[in-house]
Amino acid sequence: MDYCPKCQKEQNLRSSEEEREKKVKGKKKKVIIRSYHCEVCNTFIKSEKIDYNP
Ligand SMILES: [Zn+2]
Repeated sequence: MDYCPKCQKEQNLRSSEEEREKKVKGKKKKVIIRSYHCEVCNTFIKSEKIDYNP
């Protein structure tokens, strides 16, 4: 649960993950961006970046 500014109350969030590749010092690095949207109105709430180190 997180506060949604559009609904103006706490709502369940729906999360989606997106994989991206970026280059750091010439090396490819995978980064996962997890985005959270309100389950009710679909407003974007927040995103977090997850470094992926195999
Ligand atoms: Zn909402």
